[in-house]
Amino acid sequence: MTKRSGKCLCGGVSFTAHGDVIEADACHCSMCRRQNGGGPYYAVQFKGGVTLETAETLKWYRGSDHGERGFCAECGTSIAWRLQSHPEKIGVSLGALEDSSGISLDAHIFTDSAPEYYAVQTDAPHKTEAQVIKEFMERLEKVAQNKAENA
Ligand SMILES: [Zn+2]
Ligand SMILES: [Zn+2]
Repeated sequence: MTKRSGKCLCGGVSFTAHGDVIEADACHCSMCRRQNGGGPYYAVQFKGGVTLETAETLKWYRGSDHGERGFCAECGTSIAWRLQSHPEKIGVSLGALEDSSGISLDAHIFTDSAPEYYAVQTDAPHKTEAQVIKEFMERLEKVAQNKAENA
């Protein structure tokens, strides 16, 4: 299985990501931009998940009722994002990876929240907040359906 390593600027947080990419997104919502100095937040999820190797300086911030943002309390690097309901499913920052070769963006999300001061690239499809939530709910329904069918 493919492995990729990643870390924050100071090295207080490091991780290993396992397997192929599930999805890589750039989020243009106002919270991601506020946390990341004005630009979008680039996050990637891996099929085999992420193992934290060192996490002494890792802090989780509950920015909303749903999500948690992992960052290094020493150097401030944005390192991860996860749903409070699924803490094991960690998406990590693309910029924290030692080697991001071969990874391309699947979507630009929350593009309806993007500011005027930059143009959203056209390297991947654009999805508004409503589209993202709709697709997420459909995915949850599918999982629930599969569970019911296999029960
Ligand atoms: Zn750090
Ligand atoms: Zn966002």
